[in-house]
Amino acid sequence: MKKIFPLIIVLITLSVLGIMVIQMSWIKNAITLKREQFKREVEKSMIDARETIYDRFLTSKTTQIFIGENSRQNHLKEAFTVQFFSKDEIQQILETTLRKNNIKQPFEFAIYNIFNVPILSSDGFPQQERDNTFNILVTPDNSLRAQEVLYLYVKEDKNYIISRMAWMITASILFTCIIISAFVLTIRTMFRQKNLSEIKSDFINNMTHELKTPLATISLAIDALTNDKVIHDTDKIRYYSGMIKEENKRMNKQVEKILQAARIERQEIKLNLQVLDAHELIAKVTDNLSLQIQDKNGSLNLKLGAAKHIVQADEVHFSNVIFNLLDNAIKYSKDNLHIDVETLNSGGMLAIKIKDNGIGMNKETQSRIFEKFYRAHTGNLHNVKGFGLGLSYVKAIVEAHGGKIKVESTPGKGSTFTFSIPLQSA
Ligand code: ADP
Repeated sequence: MKKIFPLIIVLITLSVLGIMVIQMSWIKNAITLKREQFKREVEKSMIDARETIYDRFLTSKTTQIFIGENSRQNHLKEAFTVQFFSKDEIQQILETTLRKNNIKQPFEFAIYNIFNVPILSSDGFPQQERDNTFNILVTPDNSLRAQEVLYLYVKEDKNYIISRMAWMITASILFTCIIISAFVLTIRTMFRQKNLSEIKSDFINNMTHELKTPLATISLAIDALTNDKVIHDTDKIRYYSGMIKEENKRMNKQVEKILQAARIERQEIKLNLQVLDAHELIAKVTDNLSLQIQDKNGSLNLKLGAAKHIVQADEVHFSNVIFNLLDNAIKYSKDNLHIDVETLNSGGMLAIKIKDNGIGMNKETQSRIFEKFYRAHTGNLHNVKGFGLGLSYVKAIVEAHGGKIKVESTPGKGSTFTFSIPLQSA
């Protein structure tokens, strides 16, 4: 799986690049073909124009009537010269034949005699560029008169050729963009899926560990209870059954956490709103955690300064929120743990601040901690176990109450979580 992923990226990148190169060469070929087609159209126009000039010469510039191809050719051979025509007449003939052959650009022309002297010339004909223009012999091949050559300068406009192919170029750019976007989207989805599957396998590992430890303890306690020496000792029986109860409680708590996450996912959280004294509730939760704080040689300071502290909240969920935040403050701490819990009133709400001097978090972690299953890599603290569900639950509950939660944190210095809860409505 690990090798397939980069291989897919390389293969898709190569094929997208390949398609782009092939498309570019097709477009280049098409431009060359169009240019050749343009050349052929100009040359055809010149032949057509010469035919028209002959016809005009034979019908209007002479009084004779020609019957049969031979006499027509003979007369042209003997008498034809462009000098019978005016500049405007040639201009008009060229214009008509060019337009008929689909060439719409402006053009200039000149007719030179055998001594390279211009007989007729349009005003803008570029004399110096004469070698780069299209030319055709206007006098018949076997003319008895001196040869005359028509030079035609048509500005070959690159944009003109490109504009004739505009739909093709636009369509290929559009489809290339679509392919690239689809490619980027696929890669992004693949990365997300990969992340998700890593997160899920982390979660399963954590869960197994969290459930295995109490199960092992329970199993050992049961073994001890069945021991002959213990079975008659009431103190020991009390001790081991207490241990089983404790571990059972721990397991229940873990299972409850997972179930809660599932309930949030299904949006099944129902709040049982009651009027509560937030200060009392905070005191109760902190009391329950005092042993854990003592274990870490830490201290907790309550600064419950809010004048209004009667809130409308669900007692169980609200206690869980405070518990989870304090539990994290203890879990992600260093030596000399110190926690401040502060309350204040702001914007008609009760704001509760929980500040620790623990390991803190960088910006990336801060932006993701409220995501389900997210756990930061906590360096040497990575043996701290958890499911990455606590804060997503906290956020869902705070928001279900109509409050907000935010975090401010500095790596190495500590974190402050602040959340608000609505006061009892008057
Ligand atoms: P868990 O604690 O089970 O991993 P949480 O959702 O409670 O899940 O927390 C998510 C992550 O946020 C934690 O893994 C940790 O990296 C980070 N975190 C939470 N609280 C704190 C804190 N007070 N100090 C530093 N990091 C914290």
